[in-house]
Amino acid sequence: MQVYLILIATMLVDLDHLLATPVFDPNRCSINFHPLHSYDAIGCYFILLIPKKSRILAIGLLIHIIADSIDCYL
Ligand SMILES: [Zn+2]
Repeated sequence: MQVYLILIATMLVDLDHLLATPVFDPNRCSINFHPLHSYDAIGCYFILLIPKKSRILAIGLLIHIIADSIDCYL
């Protein structure tokens, strides 16, 4: 059940990628490019870590952000 929530969360942020053109650009840094990848949004994900109910969701979102940011710096 918890893994399922993580998957949903990471897929939700992936919608951001689908709205961008081109959908996938290996040279583009997603962080701060998509609305759900802005520093404001990332700040919200950290706040979501605090309540137990949304913690799993927040972990999923942050895993996605971390994976995207690795693309930025490599
Ligand atoms: Zn992303």
